[in-house]
Amino acid sequence: MSTGRKFAESGFGGWPRRRTIIAAMVALVLLPIEVSDAGRLSDVSSKQDRSPKRVASPKPATLAKPSASPKSRTAKRAVPKPVALKRFASKPVAVVCDPAKFRIVLDVGHTAKSEGAISARNVAEFVFNLRLTQQIEEKLKAEGFAATKLLLTEGRGRSSLFRRVAAVNNLPAHLLLSIHHDSVPKSFLEEWEFEGKKSHFSDRFSGYSVFVSRNNPDFKTSLSFAELLGKEMKAQGLQYAQQYSQAIMGRYQRPLLNKETGVYSYDELVVLRKTKMPAVLLEAGSIINRDEELKMDSPERRDIISSGVTAAVKEFCDPRWGILGPL
Ligand SMILES: [Zn+2]
Repeated sequence: MSTGRKFAESGFGGWPRRRTIIAAMVALVLLPIEVSDAGRLSDVSSKQDRSPKRVASPKPATLAKPSASPKSRTAKRAVPKPVALKRFASKPVAVVCDPAKFRIVLDVGHTAKSEGAISARNVAEFVFNLRLTQQIEEKLKAEGFAATKLLLTEGRGRSSLFRRVAAVNNLPAHLLLSIHHDSVPKSFLEEWEFEGKKSHFSDRFSGYSVFVSRNNPDFKTSLSFAELLGKEMKAQGLQYAQQYSQAIMGRYQRPLLNKETGVYSYDELVVLRKTKMPAVLLEAGSIINRDEELKMDSPERRDIISSGVTAAVKEFCDPRWGILGPL
């Protein structure tokens, strides 16, 4: 994603001032409801954290609220109650699942008609997103996540965005991962000629980044997966894009939630805040950076990223995997 199209799709950067003000007013009106709802869900999820024994959920449909299982309640009584804030900040959400039944939806960012950013060599972001998402899907299925679903959306602009969210919400998905490739705001673009055509690039920034929305109804679980994803991307030898935390990005600056893993909050992103399940957006790398574009175009880099995503999903599903390493 990125530049004009990215931010228009986000329902943030591309808006005229008046609409932003209206949106802010709406957000203020909705705030108490969202806060109380998020708090309730956090409480529900945190009960699972206290369980000393991790048990596969008998009902995949209830994975988002694992404390509903009777075993969790038994476990809750058996251990002392830890302090809520510490629990929230430091412990990953324990979501234990059967990989064969775990429904992760891989959302291909943008559409064939609204292609997102344009690379330094004039290839649409959508092309990169589709190829990478297909490879991630393949890898996850090969590793036993048979219910993995790739989501392709049609149409243009904001209407396609809401169509995308509606499609995801109609699925009984446990987790959404939206795949994008990054660019830069227009003011950073420089000109060059590629294959005889005037083209644009910026070699200034590179790297992946992971975004979550604090307005997602299950922000805590979203953040937990985001941190695993950032950690595994880093473990693959990749570096996250640091520019979003810098003032130079102006209105595109984002709060950096974890400086180790490169997790940012991007609260307004529709695909993250309007989805009912935990949701994370991965900017896999920059395609406006000429060197990184070539890497992102290679099967090797796609394989590295697919491995990182798969490792994160495995660990999300079974925290023991993160301790024992590849089995
Ligand atoms: Zn994008």
